[in-house]
Amino acid sequence: MFRLRLRSAVLVFAILCVFSWQAHTLYLPKRGGAARTETSGGSPSDDFEELHQGNHLFLQEDPALLEDLALNGQRPPFLFLGCSDSRVSESTIFDARPGTFFTTRNIANIYSSKDSSARSTLAYGLEALRVRHVIVMGHYGCGGVAASVATPPNLPWSEGTTAVQKWIAPIRELYHASQRKDVVKMRQQNRGKSNVAEPTLHDVGLRSLIEENVKASVKKIASDRIVTEVNLSVSTASCPQSHTANYLDMALPALT
Ligand SMILES: [Zn+2]
Repeated sequence: MFRLRLRSAVLVFAILCVFSWQAHTLYLPKRGGAARTETSGGSPSDDFEELHQGNHLFLQEDPALLEDLALNGQRPPFLFLGCSDSRVSESTIFDARPGTFFTTRNIANIYSSKDSSARSTLAYGLEALRVRHVIVMGHYGCGGVAASVATPPNLPWSEGTTAVQKWIAPIRELYHASQRKDVVKMRQQNRGKSNVAEPTLHDVGLRSLIEENVKASVKKIASDRIVTEVNLSVSTASCPQSHTANYLDMALPALT
């Protein structure tokens, strides 16, 4: 028997501050590697040149590891659901090596049993890769959650606006239903306003809603039949490093 731990962790606020401070810098040295050339011209060819340089450095970093992963396959300990936000790439913020995370990301780290992409990732991660931990991670300053608080754009909606508003609808519902004190306070402050703006990065209500959204995704994963059908026993606890994080510890029966 091995244990599957579902951990929600909202812990990247400090990292986002760093990103904000360095937002103008395109090329950063990684893990002591050589710095890439700074060519912030902004043309499409410059953009791809950045990727080429980055890939060249990546291939030089640990060729033995890449060879092992290529020949023997992946054995990631973590399945990760996070936000698509470019500032919170899991391998970057955890300085993780290839083979660490089996990943699915979307706007505002939402899990839905109707999302076949995330669901199939969960299924393959559990059943084929036998990941030991599932992490749902949100981040403060999440634009998807902030948009869920704001008044929706005026109709008629474009296809793009429709897609985004439809996707974040569960967070908008959470905003209206949550009984968490700071979310209730934010809701009361916005009541009666004809045009509610997106809350800002340090808004306490937004931060609380971001945390509640992580918990909601964890609960949905834990109750998905993909998880429940394999007879996982689930218990919850609080993360000692954060008021936000839930653990859902599970025990998977050994595969025979
Ligand atoms: Zn986000």
